[in-house]
Amino acid sequence: MDYEVIIVGAGPAGIFAALSLAELGIESVLLLEQGKDLNQRSRKKAEDMLCGWGGAGAYSDGKLTLSPEVGGFLGEFIDQESLHRLLSKADGIYVAHGAPGHVYGEMSPELEAFARRASVAELELIPTRIRHIGTENCQAVLDRLRHSLAGRVEVRTGCRVQNLLSENGKARGVRLADGQTITSQFVVAAPGRSGASWMKKEAESLGLKTKSNPVDIGVRVELPAVVLREMTDISFEAKLIHYSKTFGDRVRTFCMNPYGEVVAEESAGIATVNGHSYAKERSENTNFAVLVSSAFTEPFDDPIAYGLYIARLANLLGGGVIVQRLCDLLAGRRSTKARLDRCLTRPTLAKATPGDLSFVFPYRHLVTIIEMLQALDKLAPGVYGRHTLLYGVEVKLYSNRLDVTAEMQTEVTNLFAIGDGAGITRGLLQASTSGIIAGRAIAERLKGRE
Ligand SMILES: Cc1cc2nc3c(=O)[nH]c(=O)nc-3n(C[C@H](O)[C@H](O)[C@H](O)COP(=O)(O)OP(=O)(O)OC[C@H]3O[C@@H](n4cnc5c(N)ncnc54)[C@H](O)[C@@H]3O)c2cc1C
Repeated sequence: MDYEVIIVGAGPAGIFAALSLAELGIESVLLLEQGKDLNQRSRKKAEDMLCGWGGAGAYSDGKLTLSPEVGGFLGEFIDQESLHRLLSKADGIYVAHGAPGHVYGEMSPELEAFARRASVAELELIPTRIRHIGTENCQAVLDRLRHSLAGRVEVRTGCRVQNLLSENGKARGVRLADGQTITSQFVVAAPGRSGASWMKKEAESLGLKTKSNPVDIGVRVELPAVVLREMTDISFEAKLIHYSKTFGDRVRTFCMNPYGEVVAEESAGIATVNGHSYAKERSENTNFAVLVSSAFTEPFDDPIAYGLYIARLANLLGGGVIVQRLCDLLAGRRSTKARLDRCLTRPTLAKATPGDLSFVFPYRHLVTIIEMLQALDKLAPGVYGRHTLLYGVEVKLYSNRLDVTAEMQTEVTNLFAIGDGAGITRGLLQASTSGIIAGRAIAERLKGRE
């Protein structure tokens, strides 16, 4: 074998797997990343946004969600106590590499009172403890992690894995895009959301079982920060769940960015919307997503295709991301540049096209989003205001979930699958934690053989 372990993907999941292996004395590890090295990536280039050293984490907002209920499904594999310990371990590594000491959202009388008020508005508050690295600091933290691994793990960037190889039900290595085969005893697949469709294809050809996760589709809401100030001061990111009156659909707030910016991103060649916030630099607005979950059974069972279809429709009509004032949406007219110029919320995403989201969203989604905004307005008056901006489409394409053990091993012996690309996690800390779990399990087996 050329290596003991090959890791595919240098996002948080792959990096933390590599760190754990190095920490536990495993010396023959190769980390393969299709994108560029960290210092060669540029925020301005679409191809660098999600790929390269640091993965999607490099330009993320760097919110480390310490609560086990949020950011993935690891709680379905490990008991709560062990998960708490592992999340703390991953969090400690981030702190040791420069993440700030402060944690937002600790339980307090204000938070309890806020949760009670939320329930009166038919909103369930999911208390979340968050450490916020901030967009401008993520790269520095990832660079320190890169230095920690230097000389301990071999890293090849610009190196795309074409296939995962197995023989007699056991991992055997990988085949690269240039046709070269590299063999190893263990393979860890950590391809992230950008590699989800590749992962799905590989899983199919290896005969691995997968199940689809629901797709989350919705809008990014932007409004003056003062409207949500009470909420964001208490909990930084308020995760609120609502069941819409008309359809009973689950709708939630997601990725709240106090004083942040709305950004466009690209998934599978389609422009979608997202948001982030800096640790120090502040805009005058707060943004957050309102996402509606949709699951399908049969004959259609491809939530990713459904989400992309809706996002593509927005691109078709707007040439990219569409922005609309809430008052225009409710009045059944499109937003125009002239109408946006009269909007009291100054859009932070300048290149969004003023348009009409009612041409994009199915009735079911639109009604659910509006009912969620009405419920939020009871908690924070002004959310359902005329000058609230809605950007579309925000879509969260959660990868098909692979069948893995509590050690993150797939049905192929010694082939592990971790992070967002395996459909097991949805955020930085759980993705990193899944890397620790796989790294430890592999190190234990390798040590056991010595
Ligand atoms: C704008 C933005 C903001 C975000 N903010 C937050 C936040 O505040 N908090 C939070 O918890 N989460 C946030 N996230 C999500 C977070 O970034 C991801 O959950 C996390 O990065 C997942 O880690 P991962 O290692 O599983 O995958 P990724 O980070 O996606 O990394 C996977 C890597 O694998 C590589 N790869 C894929 N296929 C191959 C292949 N075939 N060969 C070689 N390499 C391959 C990719 O190039 C990529 O670099 C944000 C995401 C975005 C896009």
